[in-house]
Amino acid sequence: MSFSPVTGWDFISNPSQTMTTLYCARWVVPISSPAFADGAIAVEGQQIVSVASRPALSRQFPEAIVRDFGDAAIIPGLVNAHSHLELTAMRGFLEAEEADFFAWLKKLTTARLDRMTADDLYVSAAWGAVEAIRAGVTCVADASESGTESMKALRDVGLRGTVFQESFGPDPRWAKENFDKLKTKIAGLRELETTLVKCGVSPHAPYTVCAPQLEMISRFALDESLPLMTHAAESRMEASLIRDGEGPFADGLRNRGIEWKAPGVSPIQYLSDHDVLKTRPLLAHCIHVDEADIETLKQTETKVAHCPKSNAKLGHGIAPFQKLLDKGIDVGLGSDSVASNNTCDLLEEARFALLLSRSQSAANLPVRLTSADELLRSVTLGGARCLGLENQIGELREGLQADFAVVALVGSHQIPSYDPAGTLIFASSGCDVISTVVAGREVYRDGRVTTVDEERLRGRMNEIAKKL
Ligand SMILES: [Zn+2]
Repeated sequence: MSFSPVTGWDFISNPSQTMTTLYCARWVVPISSPAFADGAIAVEGQQIVSVASRPALSRQFPEAIVRDFGDAAIIPGLVNAHSHLELTAMRGFLEAEEADFFAWLKKLTTARLDRMTADDLYVSAAWGAVEAIRAGVTCVADASESGTESMKALRDVGLRGTVFQESFGPDPRWAKENFDKLKTKIAGLRELETTLVKCGVSPHAPYTVCAPQLEMISRFALDESLPLMTHAAESRMEASLIRDGEGPFADGLRNRGIEWKAPGVSPIQYLSDHDVLKTRPLLAHCIHVDEADIETLKQTETKVAHCPKSNAKLGHGIAPFQKLLDKGIDVGLGSDSVASNNTCDLLEEARFALLLSRSQSAANLPVRLTSADELLRSVTLGGARCLGLENQIGELREGLQADFAVVALVGSHQIPSYDPAGTLIFASSGCDVISTVVAGREVYRDGRVTTVDEERLRGRMNEIAKKL
């Protein structure tokens, strides 16, 4: 079965179209400048043309169509800096294996390869994109084994994003062949690229991709100007494999007849030694990092996707979010797959990140508490920087793409609201989002996603779950 491709772009792609829409709300939160009351943003086509007070913009654009959201906040679209949308069908599927990360990964991989068709993966990714849009997410950094299906899903649902095609291969004897497979896949993904959806490469992790393959992929990313993301310093098992050559990952390699000599360094140093950090990559997790690693991340202009809920659920630990920020490293927030979260809700992720960070800071003197403003910045502009999309998205200002979300502030859990950042981070969740706009297109409004048939997707998701 296939879903009808997206229509409805005509009003945006028509160059003679200069209709202006004013989106108004009690608060506008530009990120690049302080939040202000009785605000509006003026949008023409895909672009923001002005951000100012509502009275000022009403005078400037008297003919504009007005969308008034009342007691709500207009914020830049949330950026999910690390997702695996194709795994949305595995929400709650792996909980029995959570105490054993090796078994968890094995069950996930086997189910995806043996039991999910290409169309299942498409539906799973599309459902994940629907969930994201409903929660105010406008852009994702999505790691995917079936890059083709994930790119189609983003395109059809109307999300912006980069799909990082995953590559696996712990055995150096197969490095060249695995690398060639990746190159072929990327050639196909290039054909699917649009102005909103791009592709990149993802050597999966230091424990699933051998050193020669890491080097080949890094060289390829540099030569082809492809963004690169990888999982890094996520678990103790990964660290002990690389430092000491011990633990379940080391045993796993030995059981497969793969020779492994531990280099005796940290995972970050290992990635640096094999050229990955030359690509100024996006690294997901970065939990097991020391001061030297953080310095390396800074020097190499590496970006970090902080995934606090996934890390907590799998018992991997807490990444030093505040330290990374204080070092001036670009940090975005990621849900990771919903198999380890279980939701793609970036406002909830931000609250969780903030509370965890404050819990950690209690151990340090003097105490510096991470602020709601810092979290709002990470979950918008921080994510945009992770994807090299600053100056396009992540803020509300003239000339940027019209990617934004509207969060209602009328819930019993939100009233009274004195300060928008505080209410958004401490008291709101994706459920409070009432509108999501990507490149000037309202992809979520009046309680429904406007681009795909949600009921058909829901039916297919239930079928896939039965099969899994
Ligand atoms: Zn991941």
